[in-house]
Amino acid sequence: MRKHRAGLLRLALSGLLITGVMAARSDAQAERPNIVILFADDLGYGDLTCYGHPTIRTPHLDRMAREGTRFTDFYSAAPVCTPSRAALLTGRLPLRSGMTSDTRRVLFPNSRGGLPAEEITLAEALKGAGYRTACIGKWHLGHKPEFLPTRNGFDSYFGIPYSNDMDRLPNAGGPSGSLSPKVGWFNVPLMRNETVVERPADQHTLTRRYSEEASKFIRANRRNPFLLYVPFTMPHVPLFASSEFAGKSPRGLYGDVVEELDGAVGRVLDTLRAEGLSRKTLVVFTSDNGPWLTQRLAGGSAGLLRDGKGSTWEGGMREPAIAWWPGKVRAGRVCRGVASTLDLFPACLALAGVQPPADRPIDGHDISGLLKGDERSPRNTYFFYRDTQLYAVRKGAFKAHYLTRTGYGQAPAVRHDPPLLFNLDVDPSETMDVAAAHPDVVRDIAAVTERHRAGMVAGRNQLDDIDPPAR
Ligand code: MG
Repeated sequence: MRKHRAGLLRLALSGLLITGVMAARSDAQAERPNIVILFADDLGYGDLTCYGHPTIRTPHLDRMAREGTRFTDFYSAAPVCTPSRAALLTGRLPLRSGMTSDTRRVLFPNSRGGLPAEEITLAEALKGAGYRTACIGKWHLGHKPEFLPTRNGFDSYFGIPYSNDMDRLPNAGGPSGSLSPKVGWFNVPLMRNETVVERPADQHTLTRRYSEEASKFIRANRRNPFLLYVPFTMPHVPLFASSEFAGKSPRGLYGDVVEELDGAVGRVLDTLRAEGLSRKTLVVFTSDNGPWLTQRLAGGSAGLLRDGKGSTWEGGMREPAIAWWPGKVRAGRVCRGVASTLDLFPACLALAGVQPPADRPIDGHDISGLLKGDERSPRNTYFFYRDTQLYAVRKGAFKAHYLTRTGYGQAPAVRHDPPLLFNLDVDPSETMDVAAAHPDVVRDIAAVTERHRAGMVAGRNQLDDIDPPAR
């Protein structure tokens, strides 16, 4: 009898709980914003006017920042393409999904692996809640059919399946970072859904075509919630601009390409305005990793940050990031809270009223409150992985480097014990090691690091699985 009553009580309590959850869900569902993620490739922290570039003109992104919130301490989840994208779409560090490797840093045309089917992408999670979903741009999470966007929750796909410098032909007349590259040097396929529609892709017009496709998708879905993910091909080398932008920027070809990217962002925002969707749509703009410095004039700038793409110094992973949602994301705000692409997965699910998966670790934090104007970020720590190794850990203003290595080149990793310690508030360029003055901070970060390591289970490596060499 007693057992029976306890059972009834539990039933009533769980009923209350379910009602509470349903209420929260329907509130969120009433709002259910559209979500647009605009993701540049290899854009540096210092490459936009609103982040201090003196000659690259980015009026549309500057306006987006004035009408929205600009982040100073926003990180990508990895310093190179493939793992960074895997993390953005799953909210999980790439080591967990197996989308990172110490031997092959990204997927290549001879790769056989890709984002494992058991991973839940943002598109899959939102599709389950009635969102229409499109991916327009560079995928780089596996180009075999089973790994394409259309098998990962996206209703449609238009773009190139991996980087634009891959499938380089033997007769290419110059380096990928040439300032006058030719389309014919790179036999990169352009795909619609699962079919190659152009090869080599005419890279001069990719940015423009992506923004046209994006606008078309927005117009077609103005009456239902949608997720639009636009991972631009540029400004990853080789650099191509359309005739409208080529030769116009004082910064040269790299500037032309970034200015065209800015124009594409402007076109997407203009379409949202024209369709009356501004107040129903969260738009986030950021980049997958820092500037590819070894490309010299064909690479971008990390501004005052140290190093660039490939490294776990700030320049490799701290990105320009702007959030825009008129009426919800505060206009003209500069947010100094620590946040990451990892956080977009839980934040977007929360905004859509979708419960995050409970059967796996999620490394992202729900920053929907921060986006809407909360003063404090739910995130106080950040873990900087290069490939499968944890190189550095940030807690508050302090960042400890256990390993350092420049982004590209032959120099091996250098181990630091005690770690190098930088106070990023006073020394964002990471030039003055203050470990000796702060043994307590070093100990505190060491404890955080140990806890993190204890909870990390690596997924099966997807990047080292390659086609056998042709005989
Ligand atoms: Mg990249």
